[in-house]
Amino acid sequence: MASDLRLGQKLRFVVDSLDWRELRARVGGCPLCGPTLFLKLQRDQLGTRCVRCGASPIAMGIAAVVRERFGDLSQSRVYEASSRGPLFDFLRREARELVYSDFFDDVQPGQERGGVRCEDLQALTFDDESFDLCTSTEVFEHVPDDRRGFRELHRVLRPGGQLIFTVPLSDSEETLERALVEEGGLRHIHPPNYHDDLIRGSGKVLVFRDYGRDIVQRLRAAGFTLAEIVDAGDPSGMGHRAQVVTARKSSTSPHPSCT
Ligand SMILES: [Zn+2]
Repeated sequence: MASDLRLGQKLRFVVDSLDWRELRARVGGCPLCGPTLFLKLQRDQLGTRCVRCGASPIAMGIAAVVRERFGDLSQSRVYEASSRGPLFDFLRREARELVYSDFFDDVQPGQERGGVRCEDLQALTFDDESFDLCTSTEVFEHVPDDRRGFRELHRVLRPGGQLIFTVPLSDSEETLERALVEEGGLRHIHPPNYHDDLIRGSGKVLVFRDYGRDIVQRLRAAGFTLAEIVDAGDPSGMGHRAQVVTARKSSTSPHPSCT
């Protein structure tokens, strides 16, 4: 029944998003699920999908970089900042343990709703040094204080652990701050821009900033020793290049109690 429902949802996605002028199919290798068929249904990158696992070029880019930079996940404890989707399914299948969460406005962080833990990336409830890998997809542009979020992920990673994620990246050197939270109030510096969200709906999630190449400086300022923007190529071969941000926590960072 559940799989019928998922198939129905997938078919509805295909019909809803189809643009006949863009329609293309290509046999290839999906970084998440292996040999497959890629379908391009529309010009936008979210309109290209792996027909087996449903991954978009964004999820394919993260999975390709996880495989290349992190390697085998079978001994690893992983934290993913979402509770569904093809990347979530991939990590749950491959990792020794996957911890996952979503952010609900009205649930206490660390508590659950419908079996899904609520976490605020700016104040995680996890212990220090408890994960080998942290991942997120198109989340950080919605976090009011992203520097605090990066420091939190640095805190919960083990020495040598990695953060691998995506955000919409512009070609600009500098990040454009679009909105700020000041003394409890929200101030828009530029006209508000909203993204869709599976929990809150279409056009409901405020974009706090448009990231530029200086995102790597923000990660280094949060404590990461290595931070870079990785070109993950064109995983689907449909002309959608994926850029993935990676950061590594020093494997020799002294533990406060040992210094
Ligand atoms: Zn796939």
